[in-house]
Amino acid sequence: MTSARTPMVAGNWKMNFDHLEATAFVQRFAKNLRSRHFDFSRCEVALFPSFTSLRSVQVLVESEKLRIKYGAQTVSVTTQGAFTGDVSADMIAHLGCSYVIVGHSERRKYHPEDDANIVDQVRAVLAAGMQPILCVGESLEERRKGIELDFAVGQVHDVTRDLSDEEAAKLIIAYEPVWAIGTGMVATPQSAQDAAQAFREHLRATFNEHVAQAVRVLYGGSVSSKNAVELITEPDVDGFLIGGAALDVDELTR
Ligand code: PGA
Repeated sequence: MTSARTPMVAGNWKMNFDHLEATAFVQRFAKNLRSRHFDFSRCEVALFPSFTSLRSVQVLVESEKLRIKYGAQTVSVTTQGAFTGDVSADMIAHLGCSYVIVGHSERRKYHPEDDANIVDQVRAVLAAGMQPILCVGESLEERRKGIELDFAVGQVHDVTRDLSDEEAAKLIIAYEPVWAIGTGMVATPQSAQDAAQAFREHLRATFNEHVAQAVRVLYGGSVSSKNAVELITEPDVDGFLIGGAALDVDELTR
């Protein structure tokens, strides 16, 4: 990346680590970053534990004044009431979360999260003062047909079209081709760049230049210390959403 946007490395733990493991991970993570004199003003770091670990992570981050940010992996679209099992955006915000991952392909696949629901999640996250990390990306089938960019831009369009300029500027987009998630198959730096650039062009056309420049675009899908350096040199790629490699504290701090 080459712009004024602060790069971001986000670790999506998915359904891994109980609260004790999460606490041990954050302690070790912070120690590794300290020993490397990691410059938090040049790169934001965020972790996405399960709901049951968020409070433990919050206590640790606050008591040790860590500069690590954190967030939730999904959110309910309702604010309160008789919705058994749901967790509201306000509840998440009150735990000190900065971000919520929205529309991850695993949520779209295993839960009834369609575009309408994802729009409502984005709105709920913004209303609670946090930033949504909107996940989009094509399946292998769309890529084989050569329609991957149209598909991913279409997903961005469907979720963002009714946002105000101000709301849109707070978005973070994660380009996560479904075929690359957890498979060891990584998008080439050029295809990550093509997608990120296409999102930016779309935001410019739908909103304005400020929004196009403000929105960070992360790449996700089998990111590791081996391929990250090449990917981040692309001008429109602003960081990563990392799954598997984010479970290994030494790999994540490499
Ligand atoms: P992966 O997962 O890094 O294990 O491919 C990425 C993600 O699902 O966010």
